[in-house]
Amino acid sequence: MNTRTHSRSIQFIKKQVDDILQGMKLYSLPIKIEDVAKRAGLTVSPFDFEDDISGVLVIQDGKGVIGYNQSESRVRRRFTIAHEFGHFVLHREQSSMFMDKGFNAIFRSTHSGLSEQTQILEREANTFAAYILMPDHLLKEAIEKIDFDLGSEDDIKNLAKIFDVSSQAMYYRILNSGLLRFG
Ligand SMILES: [Zn+2]
Repeated sequence: MNTRTHSRSIQFIKKQVDDILQGMKLYSLPIKIEDVAKRAGLTVSPFDFEDDISGVLVIQDGKGVIGYNQSESRVRRRFTIAHEFGHFVLHREQSSMFMDKGFNAIFRSTHSGLSEQTQILEREANTFAAYILMPDHLLKEAIEKIDFDLGSEDDIKNLAKIFDVSSQAMYYRILNSGLLRFG
């Protein structure tokens, strides 16, 4: 594995997402993430994983195969596919195998027990997942349409439903979006 100790910028990741979605004209909500990954040439398959494995990405001869844990909730499966797709787009030169366990920790800024390098890759894959499931301009439109209030659990839930993501994923996406104006 090549080492890289600096993170790619959010702008870089966002550009990758925009290029993919624009090329496919697949901007309707919720984003059909499995179709998007398949149209990008990946194979996407459900698996019966043991333990708390949420998903894997295996790269062989330049082609990516995503396996996701079919026993997990739909929003979780969607996030897993988006995350593994992110590893393929951003990290396929760096490793041929990614295995992801326990996405509960995904939004923490540091993952205990993981190397710094791994943490960078995981954060980048999560950023990719967040942006492809909740694209900037669509999120902005939705926020304006409902006159969004970050303090309202109902607003978060409604938005999460529109984008077919977990409320937690929506909350963090909005917090980190720079889309909210305060004061
Ligand atoms: Zn990962």
